[in-house]
Amino acid sequence: MQSRREFLRTASAFALSASLPLDRIEPELILYNGNIITINDRQPRAEAVAVADGRFLAVGTNEKVQALATGKTKKINLEGQTVVPGFIDAHTHPAEAGLLHLRRVDCDLRSIAEIQRAIRERASKTPVGEWVLGFKYDDTKTSDGRALTDKDLDAAAPQHPVYISHRGGHTAYVNALAYSRAGISESTPDPQGGRFDRDPKTGKLNGRISERATEVFDKAIPESYSRSDYREAVKLISKMMSRAGITSAHDAWGVHDYLRGYQDAHEAGELSMRIYCLIHYREIDRMLAAGIRTGFGNEWVRVGGMKMVADGSISERTAWLSQPYVGRPNDFGIQVMTEQELYENGRKAHEADWQIGVHANGDRAIDMVLRVYERLQRERPRRNARFRLEHCTVINDSLVQRIKTLGAIPTPFAAYVYYHGEKMREYGPERLDHMFALRSFLDAGIRVAPGSDYPPGPFEPMMALQSSVTRTDINGNVWGPKQRITVEEALRVQVLHGAYASFEEHEKGSIERGKFADLVVLGRDPLHEEPLALVKIPIERTMVGGRWVFEG
Ligand SMILES: [Zn+2]
Repeated sequence: MQSRREFLRTASAFALSASLPLDRIEPELILYNGNIITINDRQPRAEAVAVADGRFLAVGTNEKVQALATGKTKKINLEGQTVVPGFIDAHTHPAEAGLLHLRRVDCDLRSIAEIQRAIRERASKTPVGEWVLGFKYDDTKTSDGRALTDKDLDAAAPQHPVYISHRGGHTAYVNALAYSRAGISESTPDPQGGRFDRDPKTGKLNGRISERATEVFDKAIPESYSRSDYREAVKLISKMMSRAGITSAHDAWGVHDYLRGYQDAHEAGELSMRIYCLIHYREIDRMLAAGIRTGFGNEWVRVGGMKMVADGSISERTAWLSQPYVGRPNDFGIQVMTEQELYENGRKAHEADWQIGVHANGDRAIDMVLRVYERLQRERPRRNARFRLEHCTVINDSLVQRIKTLGAIPTPFAAYVYYHGEKMREYGPERLDHMFALRSFLDAGIRVAPGSDYPPGPFEPMMALQSSVTRTDINGNVWGPKQRITVEEALRVQVLHGAYASFEEHEKGSIERGKFADLVVLGRDPLHEEPLALVKIPIERTMVGGRWVFEG
């Protein structure tokens, strides 16, 4: 039996030799006079690259690469600009984000009054009695110093059921009509793994719902999308992400409609980044029955691992922790799936050679997921399972050791310290030394591959770079400085490790002969930039498979 690694090697060699031997292929394009940071240890810097059939044909000095040019080769002088491999977002929700941008009110606003105005406006264009939906609300980003309530939403749209999801995606805010549409009253008990939040003073429902309590609303909201809506959504988000330099994205909660949307967009020439689609565990049976497993697809749309969720979120402070939240002595966060559920679903996937990815933010959740992975490996050892720990936020030394032993891949939020700094107080400075722990992972030799989790986190790779290098938030507060990594390391984890997390390290993740011509031209060199200004480095152009998908 061929190992996956051997298979990928053969596959990529075949793709190149299918037409002609490498030295006889004519380059379609040469980029020269560049400051090329390759993230290839054997050749860390280069001046020029030649591209043919969507791959790098040559990487080297101006002289050597330009010598390959023929009359048909297009040449671009980079005039000293910096080039890096295309960024890989190892955990994000592109199709879902695209749909939200298409249909919902963007509540990324700075006061409750502004949010009310936006809701009122949408309600005025929506027939009475129909749902008004919003997304990207963030309770810590408004100037009011308090969270949205059902009363705020009633005031904005008394005749419409309103449902606003939090930026983190694990909590939502609803009004009175929404409660009644979902059949929720003051006497409804909390569902397992979820909560209908209540005002601590009055004990009455306050409009906030968390974790699995949102499921009854999902059922009540008659949201329907046509096949072309999915394609449209993918087109929209793919443009947004190309502009930021993302050339590959791992969809961390994929369903069949998303897969079809990605494929439709690809066939219509509207998909400008490569997708590795982790599949929702509830859809795994159908996939197994069809004989599909991780790796199925092509270089543009590929089936990834199976995805499950163990606990709550960091940005909404529901991660399942061993020590309580600062200022809330009895609050340890929320466990979403039980160990047994994780094991039973995981075993099905593991036995069918699927990669598995489980969302686990808090240390208690990570411990539980590792226990499941360890058990699966004991019962049926696999050499290259590449278990993923989605987010893997709050760690300790023993968790890191177990991750290393398993060869698992954490996908932490790389931009959270910078962007979500104001939420860090509830975790406390001590715990922050063990959160988004890129330094600890790298020191242990773990192939950590960060993700944005967009919409919960911003997806701009330059923000992730600054956040990981400085551990400083927008307001200048430093959180967990022990976890700082260098600019070069921050680049490496965002490209090469992202490729490893999808078994594609022989195809992408560095600027190297034979790999896909996925690259980004930057306005300035991050290695020579003031660390607190990294976020401002402009993305000039993005190339995927030898084609410019964004030109600023
Ligand atoms: Zn996610």
